[in-house]
Amino acid sequence: MTTEVDPPGADPDRVRLYGVHTTPDGYALRDFLSRSTVAFEWIDLSHDDQARRDAGVDGLDDPRLPVCVLADGTRLERATVQSVAKQLDLLTTARSREYDLSIYGAGPAGLSAAVAAASEGLRTVVVEREAVGGQAGASSLIENFPGFPGGISGADLAERARQQAASFGAEILLVREGVEAEFHDGRIDVRLADGGRVRARANLCATGVEYRRLGIDGEERYLGAGLYYGAALSEAALCADEHVYVVGGGNSAGQAARHLAAYAAHVTLLVRGERPAASMSEYLLSRLRATPNVTIATRRQVVGLSGAACLERIVVRDGSTGRERTEPTGRMFVLIGGEPNTEWARDLGIIRDPGGYLVTGPDLLDAGRPPAVWDLDRDPFYLETSIPGSFAAGDVRHGSVKRVASAVGEGSMAIPFVHRHLESL
Ligand SMILES: Cc1cc2nc3c(=O)[nH]c(=O)nc-3n(C[C@H](O)[C@H](O)[C@H](O)COP(=O)(O)OP(=O)(O)OC[C@H]3O[C@@H](n4cnc5c(N)ncnc54)[C@H](O)[C@@H]3O)c2cc1C
Repeated sequence: MTTEVDPPGADPDRVRLYGVHTTPDGYALRDFLSRSTVAFEWIDLSHDDQARRDAGVDGLDDPRLPVCVLADGTRLERATVQSVAKQLDLLTTARSREYDLSIYGAGPAGLSAAVAAASEGLRTVVVEREAVGGQAGASSLIENFPGFPGGISGADLAERARQQAASFGAEILLVREGVEAEFHDGRIDVRLADGGRVRARANLCATGVEYRRLGIDGEERYLGAGLYYGAALSEAALCADEHVYVVGGGNSAGQAARHLAAYAAHVTLLVRGERPAASMSEYLLSRLRATPNVTIATRRQVVGLSGAACLERIVVRDGSTGRERTEPTGRMFVLIGGEPNTEWARDLGIIRDPGGYLVTGPDLLDAGRPPAVWDLDRDPFYLETSIPGSFAAGDVRHGSVKRVASAVGEGSMAIPFVHRHLESL
């Protein structure tokens, strides 16, 4: 159905989204578009008359929300990431039956590998379950990546890498998730969540890490409705005049607090330990301490969440006294580290460490000998997993340094080994 909706003041060149900001589907769309660097306008509906007038629906409870109106006037009701991505031509399907290299994950490691592989003539496909950028895409300002003295936003960096990889001919399939892999006849066949399949002669797993959950009641219920895992950059502008909470003591939590402080009335950083983690850069900690609307509260743990349709209150326990306090807030951002995305490898026999990270290269050797499952005369290449031709790079790899520059380095470094593997087939 195609109709025009043009409320006064709306910018007609942008994608416009109409919805209620406390709903998870609205958040999923905002997050996807902001990571994909698609300019959009979120029109927050706060009463039935406005919903009727601006969005052309019957009221705030109308199931046709969220509504998305594209720059050409196309109107999508019950808009989802899939339907909007499709309409924006961001959803492509694999063009070839077989590739030289399939890469899973379009974070810094996967994108850098795609640039290197495609520029060296390998038929390359990248499969990404969300938008490009990975965790780095959630970083408001990456200040330690060489070549950008003033810093660069993660979404911008990722979009540049995406364009570069595409210009060399890499195919990038977004909103596609690899769920099951099979290795046979020197090929890897991966089944995607949407039923599609991708076949390649070598593969690189660059699936990074998943945010760890708090493990308290209500997490699923408030997900995207006031509770966010990661920095949720798209939400910052909606935090004006609010007191928001960030949970975590590492660098990413610190960055998120600093970014949110530019929009929110107040940001409280809840740190479980006695002080922020050693992983929080000194420069960041001093900037946070100097920001008047940021409070760093140590020895604090969130133990409860409540609210009707969306998050309205959190319960915070003071680790020194054991006392619990209920704090009113509509938004909490949780950044307490991650776990590797390697569930798909569980039944495949690929060697993982006790934390689930993929073990590669020299780390597979025991007293200089490869593991029993390894049946080649040579040792595994650096960055090669226990399955020949299957490589891993970035945060998902055992022993990796959790930084953008190192993920980028590993991604491109994997490609010479991919060539050597392909030459041996
Ligand atoms: C908020 C935040 C701020 C940060 N700031 C900095 C910083 O300033 N400087 C710095 O050096 N580091 C920073 N980091 C760390 C840095 O972003 C990571 O080390 C880096 O992104 C790791 O890159 P990666 O490609 O290995 O994995 P990721 O960035 O985690 O990317 C993995 C990708 O794989 C996709 N994926 C997962 N499973 C599948 C699947 N089954 N199929 C298809 N795709 C899949 C994910 O959707 C994701 O896009 C920050 C991290 C966060 C969270």
